[in-house]
Amino acid sequence: MSEEASEKRVAIVTGGSRGIGLEIARELVRSLGMKVIAVDIVQQQIADLPDTFGEGAESVEGRVMDVTDTAGFTALIDEIAEKEGRVDVLVNNAGITRDGLLMRMSDEDWAAVINVNLTSAFIGTRAAAKHMVRQRGGSIVNVSSFAGVAGNPGQANYSASKAGMLGLTKTTAKELAGKNVRCNAVAPGFIRTDMTDVLPQKVKDTALAVIPLKRMGETCDVARAVRFLASDDSQYITGQVLCVDGGMHT
Ligand code: NAP
Repeated sequence: MSEEASEKRVAIVTGGSRGIGLEIARELVRSLGMKVIAVDIVQQQIADLPDTFGEGAESVEGRVMDVTDTAGFTALIDEIAEKEGRVDVLVNNAGITRDGLLMRMSDEDWAAVINVNLTSAFIGTRAAAKHMVRQRGGSIVNVSSFAGVAGNPGQANYSASKAGMLGLTKTTAKELAGKNVRCNAVAPGFIRTDMTDVLPQKVKDTALAVIPLKRMGETCDVARAVRFLASDDSQYITGQVLCVDGGMHT
């Protein structure tokens, strides 16, 4: 442990410089008083983080990393644990889409989505678990998707990656419960972010028609659910999937 060891609880949020990840980072800092390390692949977004973050920016630190880089991402988590003296929360949020119908989907689009969405969560969980087990406590939250719970046409790769996260969540929960390390998932529905802004209006209208609460979700809707699962308020909850989808999956 370094002399800079954090007195605050420490969270790592992947894909934490924009969209849902940025809002999760804000929520953990502002509502739980944590120190957050936001990990993201784009250097400029990390450089801009102190400005984009707003209130509480002094409690967030940005780190540039491709979370599919096994050695790099693992070493980064080890470095954070060494410097801060603890890793209390890991949020596996980084994700991409490469949509297309199953019969026309390329091997590259399949592999890219599985790697970024699912394999990175495995890499992060394996690395963080080592430190959480040692400190006898921690919470891992995986950002899955409604598509992983229910399937979604045009998203065979994405749905498979997000369903895989649910298996990873339940197994991690069972393996680590004895060491007081919890693992849960959130499954957002349609949330207003850059990822969904690019969808054609027709797709958005079709989605709205099947959302019982009759609106798209906001990033804060997901961030609050993650905050609950990251905090001690959920200390008797592990291996669960919390759907944040306006009632689509009931
Ligand atoms: P977003 O705005 O595209 O943000 C995703 C973040 O992950 C971006 O900052 C992205 O960096 C980063 N990222 C991508 N690949 C990475 C890599 N290899 N290494 C490190 N960082 C990487 O997406 P979002 O809408 O906030 O989604 C966040 C999570 O929620 C994703 O896992 C997504 O699947 C899930 N989700 C979203 C919705 C929704 O409606 N928006 C619904 C269900 C689930 P770049 O800036 O380079 O892209």
